[in-house]
Amino acid sequence: MALSGSEHGEEILANEYFEKGDEEDKERLEEIKNKALHSQKNSPRMRKAIEILRENQPDEAFWQGLADRCINCGGCVYVCPTCTCFNVYDLPSQGGHIRCRSWDACVHAGFTRETSGHNPRSTQGSRLARRHEHKLKFDIVNFKESGCVGCGRCSDTCPVGLGAIEIIQELNAL
Ligand code: SF4
Ligand code: SF4
Repeated sequence: MALSGSEHGEEILANEYFEKGDEEDKERLEEIKNKALHSQKNSPRMRKAIEILRENQPDEAFWQGLADRCINCGGCVYVCPTCTCFNVYDLPSQGGHIRCRSWDACVHAGFTRETSGHNPRSTQGSRLARRHEHKLKFDIVNFKESGCVGCGRCSDTCPVGLGAIEIIQELNAL
């Protein structure tokens, strides 16, 4: 079932590849959403990891120890359904320029590097910490929901085993 949130979305849904949903589809959608929410909130390992981060554990050495494995490919971010980091730049084009917006990733050093060269998140450990604290701590503080839906895409993608599932395991092992 697909729902649109704009006029453009409505135009796309008018395409022959989509069928109109009915009340039964809407009920099924709510069932699936509730089940996903329920299972995530009831994951003891997720709850414990959230608790540990809320208590301001662990220290920098924990994150850097894991981040030493990170090859900075950005894969975990680009496949995540809740990641929204982007960059804006001007591309020269036929005597003028085009303003472009592209995906970016908080795990890349350049994402937070300032014009002066100073980088408030200068180590890979601090960037890895920020990514997971954002989802499992600050999104809960700000929006009362975890920013991680537990889909496991980052764990499937990361070539060195540093997705959210592995990070949650590491936090549980503290
Ligand atoms: S498991 Fe969480 S962090 Fe990883 S891709 Fe899914 S939502 Fe994103
Ligand atoms: S996918 Fe793994 S190796 Fe690549 S940036 Fe993310 S944590 Fe690092």
